[in-house]
Amino acid sequence: MHSECLTGDVFHSSRCDCGEQLEETIQKMGEQGGILLYLRQEGRGIGLYNKLDAYELQSQGMNTYEANNHLGFPDDLRSFEDAADMLKALDVTTIRLITNNPKKIKEIQDHGIQLEAVIGTQAHLKDGNKLYLKAKVSHGKHKLSID
Ligand SMILES: [Zn+2]
Repeated sequence: MHSECLTGDVFHSSRCDCGEQLEETIQKMGEQGGILLYLRQEGRGIGLYNKLDAYELQSQGMNTYEANNHLGFPDDLRSFEDAADMLKALDVTTIRLITNNPKKIKEIQDHGIQLEAVIGTQAHLKDGNKLYLKAKVSHGKHKLSID
């Protein structure tokens, strides 16, 4: 389950690790098979234009969560209910989920999908994304080792 990140997925922005996570996942799926759900919920669900406003706030020192909050949005507007519905439409009710995000793990289970395993991705540390990854760990409780 990958949430769209135009700036990371297509342009390999140095601000985040989305493009690298997507490529790592596609690599794993190339070896082991699987289903990629590409979810149109840019910027943790706030949309591309709001995300660019959040980037401006991040340039002034806020982390991604603080910036979204400052714009009047919750920490994370995404829902994974549609992803669960997509899997059910494919008659898939048990999965091995690639994620570091505890919110994804909880929500997909809450919507009736069983987890056989949770597989983490690597930390894709770049010059511009250390604060972004630190906020993911400290605020979003992502399971990532970045030190
Ligand atoms: Zn991104």
